[in-house]
Amino acid sequence: MPQAMQLDIGTRFALNDGNRIPVLGLGVFEVPSGRVAQDTVSTALAEGYRHVDTAKYYRNEKDVGMAIRASGLPRADVFVTSKLWNDDHGTERALGAGRKSCRQLGLGHIDLYLIHWPVAGLRGKSWDALVRLREEGVARSIGVSNYRVPHLEELLASSSTVPAVNQVEFHPFLYQKELLRFCQRHGIQLEAYAPLTKGERLRDPKLIEIAAKVGRTPAQVLLRWALQHEVVVIPRSVRPERIRENRQIFDFHISSKEMDALDRLDEGFRTDWNPDKEP
Ligand code: NDP
Repeated sequence: MPQAMQLDIGTRFALNDGNRIPVLGLGVFEVPSGRVAQDTVSTALAEGYRHVDTAKYYRNEKDVGMAIRASGLPRADVFVTSKLWNDDHGTERALGAGRKSCRQLGLGHIDLYLIHWPVAGLRGKSWDALVRLREEGVARSIGVSNYRVPHLEELLASSSTVPAVNQVEFHPFLYQKELLRFCQRHGIQLEAYAPLTKGERLRDPKLIEIAAKVGRTPAQVLLRWALQHEVVVIPRSVRPERIRENRQIFDFHISSKEMDALDRLDEGFRTDWNPDKEP
């Protein structure tokens, strides 16, 4: 990304369907449903986040919707993602699950609905169901998650609808360069989950050295690294001070030399399930 390209918390990347996705979102995996989830989303919205990443599997879609409605923000200002869980694959089940997630959120539509995992056998039918959900207006954009290049090739060969987004684990310790390039070539926006390595690599010496050089925290450097690769980030925190820290990533730049050094941290380290081993 050229240094001149200015990003801020309101920046959205263009998707291949004409919609736009905010570059920073709040992830809510493992955020307990009820008061904690509602307060976490409210705090993030008050801090200027306009994008929340939930899923049926996280059991907090209802809370996400409640907090967004309670914020009083115009619906168009907030971008919400949810996902089709593994036991909801197949035409009828996927249609039912998408409509149900939409009802749970209570926001009129889902901005982005993703296939959570490339479950073998039924994922093609599920994708066709997502296309229908988009036609029905249940979801404005549709995409996939945890798809590797062969999964994407299979989808592109069997459907004329290209996913708007592929959400995958992505950080310097799992710099999926080939997948990023493939997605860029096909107009698929890559989105980074576990962008903070779930906290597991924040004490890496090289990362700490670069963070000291740019005068930022390791978490901020990881998020900024992904943004400079033009990848959307959805860090999770339930702590107000970290929710704030994680949004302070728009007023500094990582030099190309330091970007290269971060790229070289790649060690194929996964915090999550490996999509090569299909669920
Ligand atoms: P993250 O990489 O976002 O890390 C979250 C962890 O880091 C939490 O333990 C949090 O603790 C801690 N943390 C947050 N901010 C800081 C900070 N500034 N300094 C130090 N520690 C910090 O992991 P996630 O797995 O949550 O990934 C982000 C989001 O991606 C998820 O919430 C979910 O929305 C999505 N996701 C999607 C998956 C998929 O299959 N599609 C799989 C996994 C995640 P604390 O809360 O105490 O601050």
